[in-house]
Amino acid sequence: MKNFNYHQSTKILFGKGRINELAEVVLPYGNKVLLVTTKAANPALIEQYTRVRAILTSKGISVAHFDGVIPNPTIAVISAGALLARKFGAQVIIGLGGGSSMDTAKAISVEATHPGTSWDYLFYKTPQPDQSKLLPIIAVSTTSGTGSQVTQVAVITNPETRDKSALYNNILYPQVCIVDPDLMVTVPKFVTATTGFDVLCHAFESTINPGTGAYVDLLAWEAIRIVVANLPKLLENLNDAEAREQMAYADTLAGLCIANAGVTLPHGMGMAVSGMYPNIAHGEALAILYPACAEFTWEFAIPQFARLATILNPHLKSHSEREAAWECAVEIVKFLKVIGLHKKLRDCDMPENEIEALAKQCMVLPDYKGNPRVATPEEMIHLVKQCY
Ligand code: NAD
Repeated sequence: MKNFNYHQSTKILFGKGRINELAEVVLPYGNKVLLVTTKAANPALIEQYTRVRAILTSKGISVAHFDGVIPNPTIAVISAGALLARKFGAQVIIGLGGGSSMDTAKAISVEATHPGTSWDYLFYKTPQPDQSKLLPIIAVSTTSGTGSQVTQVAVITNPETRDKSALYNNILYPQVCIVDPDLMVTVPKFVTATTGFDVLCHAFESTINPGTGAYVDLLAWEAIRIVVANLPKLLENLNDAEAREQMAYADTLAGLCIANAGVTLPHGMGMAVSGMYPNIAHGEALAILYPACAEFTWEFAIPQFARLATILNPHLKSHSEREAAWECAVEIVKFLKVIGLHKKLRDCDMPENEIEALAKQCMVLPDYKGNPRVATPEEMIHLVKQCY
């Protein structure tokens, strides 16, 4: 058996109704909380935020609410949250929402306690944040999802350079996360589809990353099985509570996978896409990129592509492993059509004259190097053209 490492320091509270335990989760860390969310434009989110505040204040916890998070959060968003955290004297940061809110909470914990901005502490820079200074992070996920509730990653966008990058450090694992499927019942169809596809991508990429191991594999294939069985069902009926719960579970499993094995080419490219075009949601970018990345990679990871293909289409079990792997890109396209995410970059208003610039940006983050087949600059341009 191949040697592997596995690390996870976040305590996970999973299940319906677990949000009611939030105050007990927070109190060991302090009683002044910065609650980090997006703006509640719709009544469902207003209700959710009011409920969470009530759970906290009923136990004597003071709450300052930073509701300035935007999808693909920027450096300025984090600075505004960090300023409020400092002014309020926050002792704990709660990220309540999807990846954008949970990542903003992690980055605020850094910026509120260190000189400069969060961008100064990206994964490749020195010095890295000092663990003894950080404010404890509690992650409450409301999408399924990015897995951010169980990762050491906080993704940030720099609109000036049109660059999306990340803080990545084991000291950024949330102390505790709550994954309560009841908080996800209001997620609209498009966000359910994009975040759900992200789960499949996390799980699959972790199986082809060289950092994978037997334990990650176990979690990843279970997550993939759950997504394929439940995401189409959930999109047919957004009130399917059982499917929502299963997706929340798969999201958490897949988050544990990326935290330990890492992602590959599609995620590296996806970060570049959303960095240059923040109107493209993270999971939407992945949906656009996946078929071309699968065609590019399948021959270099035949067992994994064959296994994914046969989960997507069990009839392929009668084919040889190589044939099934070859079919995988076609099966991914079929799945994307079912979940309403079969699209191209040109459908999202990307200007054609930026293809080469995007290809260059796709090679900034090291994720593409973790792919079983590493693209050359020319191959990257070809890949972007295929996705356009
Ligand atoms: P998101 O957090 O941007 O949320 C998308 C939209 O859904 C927002 O408008 C939000 O208000 C809304 N929403 C969230 N929960 C809702 C609910 N319960 N009901 C109704 N509306 C709700 O989306 P996301 O895909 O979860 O996060 C994307 C971000 O996470 C990107 O920046 C991506 O790069 C990052 N990411 C982080 C990690 C990590 O490990 N930290 C991994 C993958 C992606």
